[in-house]
Amino acid sequence: KSGFVTIIGRPNVGKSTLMNEVVGQKIAIMSDKPQTTRNKIQSVYTENDFQIVFIDTPGIHKPKHKLGDYMLKAAKDTLGEVDAILFVVDDSTIIGPGDAFIMEELKEIDTPVILVMNKIDKMNQEQFNKLYEAYKAKGNFADIVGISALERANLDVLINKIVEFL
Ligand code: GDP
Ligand code: MG
Repeated sequence: KSGFVTIIGRPNVGKSTLMNEVVGQKIAIMSDKPQTTRNKIQSVYTENDFQIVFIDTPGIHKPKHKLGDYMLKAAKDTLGEVDAILFVVDDSTIIGPGDAFIMEELKEIDTPVILVMNKIDKMNQEQFNKLYEAYKAKGNFADIVGISALERANLDVLINKIVEFL
């Protein structure tokens, strides 16, 4: 089994950290500054019986200018060509306009979307449950999983879910 997944989400939610911690190499550029990852960066996770190619993307946001329009289109083209999309969100307590915008864009795409709720190390159970219910009500997700990319929590669960879509 092998396939491609692309990692999308607002800047700074932990997309690059996720890819690096899963694959175990510092390939994507990580930074506190949003938008550090300008170009698509791929890396491969290999096990005996499957292989997943991860595509890291720059943060998706509502275009304010022509270049932004172009980048959004490039990002969306990729989304239709992969086996699954990892839509990463963080510990923000509400679904903000950035995430709402991405969820709107995802409605136009048939690829299954796994919602990855990252930074669970910064949330208590109540916060997590509230956010989980809010996303579940608003989006059409193939699956939802809470992880901490930084602390490598639940990454195995995420991998197992991805494999189902390869
Ligand atoms: P990207 O813009 O989505 O690629 O985000 P990055 O991977 O560059 O991460 C942005 C910031 O969030 C960095 O300071 C990371 O160390 C931090 N971060 C990423 N994942 C986690 C996590 O699971 N928990 C916490 N507490 N911080 C995280
Ligand atoms: Mg990044």
